[in-house]
Amino acid sequence: MNEILSLQNISYTYTPEELEKRKAVDNISFTVNDGEWIAIVGHNGSGKSTLAKLMNGLIFPESGEVRILGESLNEENLWAIRSQMGMVFQNPDNQFVGATVQDDVAFALENNGVPFEDMIKRVHESLAQVKMDEFLDREPHHLSGGQKQRVAIAGALALKPKILILDEATSMLDPQGRHEVLSTVRRLREETHLTVLSITHDLEEALLADRILVMNEGRKYTEGTPTEVFARGDELVQLGLDLPFTMKMSQLLRAQGVEVKGNHMSEEELVNDLWTSNFNK
Ligand code: ADP
Ligand code: MG
Repeated sequence: MNEILSLQNISYTYTPEELEKRKAVDNISFTVNDGEWIAIVGHNGSGKSTLAKLMNGLIFPESGEVRILGESLNEENLWAIRSQMGMVFQNPDNQFVGATVQDDVAFALENNGVPFEDMIKRVHESLAQVKMDEFLDREPHHLSGGQKQRVAIAGALALKPKILILDEATSMLDPQGRHEVLSTVRRLREETHLTVLSITHDLEEALLADRILVMNEGRKYTEGTPTEVFARGDELVQLGLDLPFTMKMSQLLRAQGVEVKGNHMSEEELVNDLWTSNFNK
C-alpha cells in the first residue's frame, strides 16, 4: 500500500494560555494510504479540525512533519499540494460563494486559472459526479442541505483532488441529506481513485471507513478498523462518543437476556444473529 499522507509527531498550540492546559494537537503520528477512507472521531475540542487544518497547510505544526504525496509540506510547495486536496466544511450555507450552482463550482476553478472551455467541462462533470447536473442554474437557497453539500463536494472535485477532507460535512444535515452525501462519497470512491478523510460525529458514517482514528484531548487514543475500534465499546462511551445503533441495540438485548453475540457492525449482522438466538424461542 502506498502512503499518500502522513503526520509524524505533529503538535500544535493556538495560544500560550492553552499550552498550560494541553495542546490542541499533541504529538500525533498517523499514516493514510492512497485510496483509503479514514474516519476521524472524537468529542468536541479533541483536535479533529486542527488536524484537518494542519493537513492542508492552513496552519503549520510547531513540531513534527506533514508529508503529502511524497513531499514534506512547507511554505514553498503549499499551493501545489493544496490543489490536490479538496475540503468540505460543516455549514452548507457558509461555503456557497456563487449566485447559482454552476457559478459556485466554477469559482474555485476560476481562482486557479483554469481556462474557460475546460472550466465549463469540469463544472458539468463534477456536478454530474454528485448527481446535481440538473441544478446548474438553481440558486443555493432553493436547495436542501444535502444538495448544498453535494454542490460543495462538486466544487472540491472540480479541482481533481487526490484527497477529499470532509470536516463534519454531514453534521448539520437531516437523515435524508446525510444519506445523500454519504452515498455520493461512497460511489465516488468506487468510481474514482479518491482518498477520503471524514471527520465525523456520526458513528454510522465512521463504520463506512476502512480505518478510524480516535482523538481524545489532542492525542491519538487509538486507531484501527471499525471492528477493532468499536470492540472497545464502553471505553468509547467514556470518551464521550456514541456507539452505532446496532451496537446499542445488541447491548440492550443482552441486558434483557436475549443471547445475541457481540458487536454488530450492521443491521444485517444483528438480524442474522437474532434468527439463531433464544429471542425466537
Ligand atoms: P474538534 O474539531 O475536535 O472539535 P478543534 O481542533 O477545533 O477540535 O479544537 C482543538 C482545541 O483547540 C480546543 O481546545 C479548541 O478550543 C482549541 N482551538 C480551536 N480553534 C482555536 C482557535 N482558532 N483559537 C484558539 N483555540 C482554538
Ligand atoms: Mg471541529
